[in-house]
Amino acid sequence: MKRQLIAGNWKMNGSFAANEVLLRVLAAGMGGATCQVAVCVPAPYLAQVQGLVVGTGIELGAQDVSQHEAGAYTGEVSANMLRDFAARYCLVGHSERRQYHGETDAVVATKAQRALAAGITPIVCVGETLAERGAGRTEEVVKRQLAAVIHTNGHCISEIVVAYEPVWAIGTGKTASPQEAQRVHAVLRNQLRAATEQADRMLILYGGSMNAANAAQLLSQEDIDGGLVGGASLKAGDFLSIIAAAH
Ligand code: PEP
Repeated sequence: MKRQLIAGNWKMNGSFAANEVLLRVLAAGMGGATCQVAVCVPAPYLAQVQGLVVGTGIELGAQDVSQHEAGAYTGEVSANMLRDFAARYCLVGHSERRQYHGETDAVVATKAQRALAAGITPIVCVGETLAERGAGRTEEVVKRQLAAVIHTNGHCISEIVVAYEPVWAIGTGKTASPQEAQRVHAVLRNQLRAATEQADRMLILYGGSMNAANAAQLLSQEDIDGGLVGGASLKAGDFLSIIAAAH
């Protein structure tokens, strides 16, 4: 059985003091965790969190990466910079980036390639909006988003992690039912199978209001290999419960 990954997305939250408390409580409570655990933190806290996670089993992730390698891109953070902090993961194509920063499928694919080139595992987020879901377009949308990443030439796409995050479930308290989520995950798995022989060992995470109460059922689905957790990852007790529900 492959190990699941529970990745926290802190979004634009945190402070030196709060990060330290959160990570100390997590580290103290993680004994016996059988899954992999990561936290994706705001860029200014990469150095602090890099130090705090040493020896804890928690891995470091970033929330975004520039599509460019280096140069005159004020405000951007490159993949090589993330590597300097030993980031293991980087979110790409989070729906908040697609929605508020106009990231297209092509931009997301380039970002995934930049991360891979720097030895960082991109967690590629895909998911449909409420309107797309209502129009019965879920499958078409997630397949299009993933196809853009799969079919960009360059580094091997079997090294990516995929996160299915229905946009209508992010931060809303609404969750896809375990069966609904599994159905979409199976579609994504088949798409990966058509692209790589490694598809069955690749991780497909579910994200969207995962919490202590619903995690076990979601994580028991055949093609759900972990969770991308926003709000609940900021509460140590809730995040630890989700970690305990994984394997
Ligand atoms: C996220 O930000 O990726 C996310 C899934 O958020 P939440 O768990 O709060 O819905």
